[in-house]
Amino acid sequence: MEVPNQEIRLPLLDAKKISLSIKREDTLHPHISGNKFRKLKYNLLEAQKQGYTTLLTFGGAFSNHIAATAYAGKLQGFKTIGVIRGEELEAKWANNPTLSFAKAQGMEFHFISRQAYQEKNSEAFLKKLQQSFGVFYHLPEGGSNTLAVKGCEEILTEGDRHFDVVCSCVGTGGTLAGLINSKKANQKILGFTALQGGFLKNDIRKFAPQGGWTLQTDYHFGGYAKVTAPLIHFINDFKGQTGIPLDPVYTGKMLFGILDLVAKDYFKKGTKILAIHSGGLQGITGMNIRLKKKNLPTINV
Ligand SMILES: *Cc1c(COP(=O)(O)O)cnc(C)c1O
Repeated sequence: MEVPNQEIRLPLLDAKKISLSIKREDTLHPHISGNKFRKLKYNLLEAQKQGYTTLLTFGGAFSNHIAATAYAGKLQGFKTIGVIRGEELEAKWANNPTLSFAKAQGMEFHFISRQAYQEKNSEAFLKKLQQSFGVFYHLPEGGSNTLAVKGCEEILTEGDRHFDVVCSCVGTGGTLAGLINSKKANQKILGFTALQGGFLKNDIRKFAPQGGWTLQTDYHFGGYAKVTAPLIHFINDFKGQTGIPLDPVYTGKMLFGILDLVAKDYFKKGTKILAIHSGGLQGITGMNIRLKKKNLPTINV
């Protein structure tokens, strides 16, 4: 599976003599977009091989992973169970575009409190879930495990070897780990974190022991799924100028960060950058509902 790299033309890039291309992983599949396709691929093959008939996973109200798992599971004939963060959603999931999409694919929901959700990786909690739902193949939150990283090692191809820097969004870090494992020796990987906190580095090292990568932690805009009016304006301007849609949780923040770093001369003249568009566009509808309620500008679709 290979997607095109699209070269971006912007006055800032010309002025700074920087080349920027975007790998359109968002175009991989209409409903299992970007890195979630990569992360599910080998997991679903493994689940099939081991004879599992049910997938169980975790996510929040706007989770791209929940939407992708629901769709991919249906496609491959699995029953899917989504353990959803936030008991209050039980009464109003139908108003949430991500959750109603997942439900329409046949996903069964189990809503739990934010506090209970913190136990999501504990053996005891998984055992309890088995008692309620029977045997299942467990996909961790965000889908990050060894097989997910293996799938993400297929994002970069031989045709990408001439890029100096590869940029990617970072949630749990599984995607970044795959890029680190598959990069060429001369390439640097730059990860843009979508949430606050410094706990990520060890998770990434667990899956990708070698160096050659750094994290940019200044572009989370207040934290996971937090947005500001300037970010929304940036996403709309970027789409107007390049035709490329960005999501507000991950790729919008990364592109904002890349162009900010270009403006601040972070990159040497002549640097060739490849940014991975990891998808996430399904979340825009739900985010726009939230933005309208808060009287903030909305994302053009
Ligand atoms: C899930 C997701 C990420 C984060 O990927 P990780 O492997 O968890 O770091 C990045 N971008 C998009 C669009 C996503 O949906």
